[in-house]
Amino acid sequence: MHTLNADLHSHSTRSDGTLSPRALAERACARQVQLWALTDHDDIGGQHEAAAAAQALGMDWLSGVEISVSFAGETVHIVGLGMDVDDPALCAGLARIRHGRSQRALDMAEGLAQVGLKGAHEGALRYVSNPDLVSRTHFARWLVETGVCSDFGSVFRRYLTHGKPGFVEHRWAGLGEAVQWITDAGGLAVIAHPGRYRFSATAEFALFSEFKTHGGAGVEVVTGSHGAGDTLKYAAMADEFGLYASRGSDFHSPEESRIDLGGLPDLAGGLRPVWQALRHRVRPGGRAKPDLRSESCPPIAGGAVSAA
Ligand code: AMP
Ligand code: MN
Ligand code: MN
Ligand code: MN
Repeated sequence: MHTLNADLHSHSTRSDGTLSPRALAERACARQVQLWALTDHDDIGGQHEAAAAAQALGMDWLSGVEISVSFAGETVHIVGLGMDVDDPALCAGLARIRHGRSQRALDMAEGLAQVGLKGAHEGALRYVSNPDLVSRTHFARWLVETGVCSDFGSVFRRYLTHGKPGFVEHRWAGLGEAVQWITDAGGLAVIAHPGRYRFSATAEFALFSEFKTHGGAGVEVVTGSHGAGDTLKYAAMADEFGLYASRGSDFHSPEESRIDLGGLPDLAGGLRPVWQALRHRVRPGGRAKPDLRSESCPPIAGGAVSAA
């Protein structure tokens, strides 16, 4: 069965991805993505470029964002899809969330300095293109580049997660707030990669229940960070909580991401895809003649596209 190749979770240089919104659109198109959303962390500054690029390529597009939320002592990510990206309350809310990142970055560097890793702040900033958005990913790139760790997994395990020297507790948006910014701006809120959180069954149930009470609409069932077991589990939870199902690679970089744009399994039949509820918010790619797609997609700079 062929279903729509929708990829509704990806990152550009506006947050912690390494490709510009335009380059991501080109990569998505070349990899046969039919409906694409750019979902930068806490920032929608790349949305107009993403929309224009998708339209020029003949690829359908939805607006997107991934909002950092504090819930039950853990950071949870809520993806927003189909919002009006010029909505003032959404823009103001995201600006507030971004604001805390700069001090957090200084505090992270301080923690790393205490275990002998000097210069981490300046180091991380070398990888940052949006000065408003310093993330753990930028510290991770510096720590790998300077040879402190050999790969991303070990950087996060040794330095950047709970209890480790570069980890700083941080207060992000409230769950209800994030859902409200998204829905008031005409979009739908989706729980991102639920399989990644370290919740007890009780806390996870609370997350889904409260999310639903606040007007949350969907959950990522198929994502780059889910194994087959997670996919089955969250398909059942989508059903149990009456949530739409979403699909997104969470692509950050050709060098770092395990799953490439569009390179995911289909959503299982029986689930209600979130994009069906967002049909009225999709910006059509215009000259979307299927047989012309390969001609309208330029080749990716730097080599062939490998199958994920
Ligand atoms: P921040 O928003 O600054 O807390 O950074 C979170 C980002 O770090 C996530 O969006 C991922 O891109 C990245 N990240 C978190 N954990 C890991 C991990 N274990 N391995 C690789 N990247 C990770
Ligand atoms: Mn990220
Ligand atoms: Mn995330
Ligand atoms: Mn993400």
